Amino acid sequence: MLFRQFFEPESSTYTYLLASGRGREALIIDPVKEQAEQYLQAIRELDLRLVRAIDTHTHADHITALGDLREATGCITIMGERSRAECVSQTVRDGEMLEVDGVTLQALYTPGHTDESFSFVLAPARPRAVFTGDVLLIRGSGRTDFQGGDPEQSWQSIVDRLFRLPDETLLYPAHDYRGWTVSSIGEEKAHNPRLAGRTREQYVSLMRELKLPDPKKMDVAVSANLACGRPRLA
Ligand code: FE
Repeated sequence: MLFRQFFEPESSTYTYLLASGRGREALIIDPVKEQAEQYLQAIRELDLRLVRAIDTHTHADHITALGDLREATGCITIMGERSRAECVSQTVRDGEMLEVDGVTLQALYTPGHTDESFSFVLAPARPRAVFTGDVLLIRGSGRTDFQGGDPEQSWQSIVDRLFRLPDETLLYPAHDYRGWTVSSIGEEKAHNPRLAGRTREQYVSLMRELKLPDPKKMDVAVSANLACGRPRLA
């Protein structure tokens, strides 16, 4: 298995490149526009062919590289079926399998951070890892105060769906702001301060009281991400 984690420092975003080996077809999850050249370099140097580029949700803090990667490689761009982004060439439904040359991902509808967020489980027959976007972060969870976010749904997605995965399933989020690179479902069940030992009601009121400032790039990013990563003219 070939697995690469990239980091974009401005928005603290993680991007994941997966293939079953060198010379094979590859997929990428949550790529950032400013880093597109770096992904393409890795893809060339590892002798991969990029065939799928996935966004877990419409990001508010950075511009997606989906459009640029599709232009550069002809890859298919994918989001969950509730996405309103224009540049999606294929949508996935809850439970649907995505197969790329020996790599299998299962789409899981996990709203809460946004109303169109999906997570992706690697090798769902015996789950090895889950890419959670922003719904579940390491020792945290994604804000629920815009883009159709909802703390009740966030709790449900995390506790009733993601926490049902085996404890040893590795957790790879779309962001980390403190330097954590990977966790596991078992670790988050036990140590995530927003969730461990809390009730649904406590979680919901905690999320409602966060009062976070809007992300720096929000106005540009959301509209650009609905338009293939190209800033809108009007
Ligand atoms: Fe997000």
